[in-house]
Amino acid sequence: MNQRKNPITPLQRVLELLPDVRPSRIGYVALCPAHDDNRASLSIGEGNDGRVLLHCFAGCHVADIVAATGLEMRDLFPRTRNRSPRRGGKHHGPHA
Ligand SMILES: [Zn+2]
Repeated sequence: MNQRKNPITPLQRVLELLPDVRPSRIGYVALCPAHDDNRASLSIGEGNDGRVLLHCFAGCHVADIVAATGLEMRDLFPRTRNRSPRRGGKHHGPHA
């Protein structure tokens, strides 16, 4: 497996944890893990910036849904790389 080159997106990660995921027009639907769902009330989409959009038609809060999957809110967002960019690539020569 070569997952380092192609890390899964937040969406894929969430989908893996949700029960009974099915594709829908707007993205996916699944059984909502935050309430006793039997009709796929949870819709899952992906925002333009790669974040996961969750909406439960029964009115569950996103935080509750996320908690029920074992993830955290920040897991819905793609990792930003520009937090502490380490650049120091220019010092490669041997220094005396
Ligand atoms: Zn729900």
